[in-house]
Amino acid sequence: MKVLTALICCLLLAGCTSQGATEGSSKKLQVIVTLFPLYDMARAIGGEYADVSLLLPPGAEAHSFEPRPGDILRLHKADLFIYTGPFMEPWAESLLKGVDAKGLKAINAGSGIPLLRQGKEQGDGHDDHHHEGGDPHIWLDFHNAQTMVTTILAGFTAQEPAHAGAFRRNAAQYQARLEELDRSYRSALADCRSRTIIHGGHFAFGYLAKRYDLRYLSAFPASGDSEPNARQMATMIELIRSTGTGAVYYEELVSPRLADTLARETGSPLLLLSAGHNVSRDDLARGVTFPDLMERNLKNLRQGLRCR
Ligand SMILES: [Zn+2]
Repeated sequence: MKVLTALICCLLLAGCTSQGATEGSSKKLQVIVTLFPLYDMARAIGGEYADVSLLLPPGAEAHSFEPRPGDILRLHKADLFIYTGPFMEPWAESLLKGVDAKGLKAINAGSGIPLLRQGKEQGDGHDDHHHEGGDPHIWLDFHNAQTMVTTILAGFTAQEPAHAGAFRRNAAQYQARLEELDRSYRSALADCRSRTIIHGGHFAFGYLAKRYDLRYLSAFPASGDSEPNARQMATMIELIRSTGTGAVYYEELVSPRLADTLARETGSPLLLLSAGHNVSRDDLARGVTFPDLMERNLKNLRQGLRCR
């Protein structure tokens, strides 16, 4: 039986070692998370004592995701389930009601973090008709991200007190990395010729803009909004011209068609700004981290905002 289990494990997980395939793996804390930033935080905290898996398939769009029947089965076997909050994953709490697993602990990683009103900075007058609860992209303020790490850490130590010391050290290291990111963003974005981020994607960077005193305009005030109409596009193009910004940003994992139109109409370069909801299969395999994505963003922000 053990041989069969090991064989199935190795067929399912190409990377699993023979040691991991036997009893060693069953002793690791089984952690399931919804989004990539949580995945990165949880695997950093858990280190060698946790198996962390992402519910969202690599490359999938986060806002339109709905859990599949197989996900409920996976939750039955998990020790920890971590989600961002009821406005980012409105399905999470009802999913949990359907899971009858005594050992499972659920963590709302956004607990205690006040939400910004979504679309407040939006320039074209069709604000906040979505997500009345506020902007769910809390991880894009690195101070919030630190709070999320603290909340996730509490879940790990409650479920596995024997490794609390290691979890705390790992979490402290991750917090230090976030602190360093915050410092480099603050100094790199202090002196820029433009202070307006023009985003041809859905409203996601409100927290980041607020933290570094930038203005943020997005073509879609919320995910799932219908495309802007011709008049709204014209207003957006006019705004880009009047702010003299150096780039139009497109979002990860969706077609950049709209951002591309804005860039072409205004003769601006098109640059990626990743909110980090999810990553591609290639990036996941390459072991890219949330701070890596944020470093790439900073490079593109410095270029697009023409910072000194
Ligand atoms: Zn989003």
